[in-house]
Amino acid sequence: MKTVLVCGAGGFIGSHMVKRLKNEGFWVRGVDLKFPEFGKTQADDFIMGDLRDPYVCRQAVDRKFDEVYQFAADMGGAGFVFTGDNDAAIMHNSGLVNLNMLDACHKRNVKRIFYSSSACIYPEHNQLDPDNPNCEESSAYPANPDSDYGWEKLFSERLYMAYHRNYGMEVRIARYHNIFGIEGTWRGGREKAPAAMCRKIALAKDGGEIEIWGDGKQTRSFLYVDECLEGTIRLTRSGWTGPVNIGSDEMVTINQLADMAMEAAGKKLTKHHIDGPLGVRGRNSDNRLIHDKLGWRPTRPLREGMAKTYHWIEEEVKKAKLI
Ligand code: NAD
Repeated sequence: MKTVLVCGAGGFIGSHMVKRLKNEGFWVRGVDLKFPEFGKTQADDFIMGDLRDPYVCRQAVDRKFDEVYQFAADMGGAGFVFTGDNDAAIMHNSGLVNLNMLDACHKRNVKRIFYSSSACIYPEHNQLDPDNPNCEESSAYPANPDSDYGWEKLFSERLYMAYHRNYGMEVRIARYHNIFGIEGTWRGGREKAPAAMCRKIALAKDGGEIEIWGDGKQTRSFLYVDECLEGTIRLTRSGWTGPVNIGSDEMVTINQLADMAMEAAGKKLTKHHIDGPLGVRGRNSDNRLIHDKLGWRPTRPLREGMAKTYHWIEEEVKKAKLI
């Protein structure tokens, strides 16, 4: 039986990936600081451990896995990443996880490892025009990410590429663009825009108002988690080594995102714009390279994913007795 290791298996993308790989028939080991928040892990084996510790990494990689997926990171939405308050923790924690995991994999002769980088590595100066952001893979250098979260991702991309060049590891790197969906964090400060929007709308009375950070004219694209997994698996098993975008190219403003969630909720709410951490002005996934290298790119409409996510969050809000 083929074996897989999923690091960050208690998190949003990692827990979805564990389910997907179990459905494919793999023996799956997960590692994380915590169990998945929504439902029991499907992993055959789950190590509760801190991957900043090289000993835990060696324990997790006690055999030569067929595939390793590295999702573990100190991570959150704009409220966590763009305030600046968590920069030292993000760089220290995520940097150590990547340094230690990669070394443990190399020592066990693991041949194939996937690393989840981010669109946050792209230079800020290419993302000032909300209608025309440039996120082509080759535009990453000269580097100028707008957050230390982005700088750590860029450092780690280079680390993985160096292990590829020097030790022949088959390294696969995706630059994810805003992945969202059911069973993702929806409160507590680490949630991302789609989940935060759905929560606010679920809590509001029809005809009331919701708060939106900034003027809502900043643009982004959002990819539903199922298509993220599909792209990640296709990339990992492909022959393409360089970093590649995995994201939707259906660019919307944050105001339009709110409208989609309101449509799913069947509510009409007034948008009240307030100050808040924002990130770059515009961002969209450039999917030419992934289409060229894998013959595949995400195609599902955002409206569909937002409707699923809204209904799931509305149920969570009810379960938590917040409405
Ligand atoms: P998440 O926060 O839900 O999952 C990350 C998991 O890593 C968490 O469960 C956390 O407990 C675990 N972790 C953190 N530090 C650890 C440590 N020291 N030891 C063991 N486990 C540790 O985030 P996610 O949305 O599932 O993202 C997964 C990966 O994809 C991350 O690397 C993230 O940076 C990247 N990414 C995600 C998005 C997105 O929109 N979700 C976008 C770009 C990149």
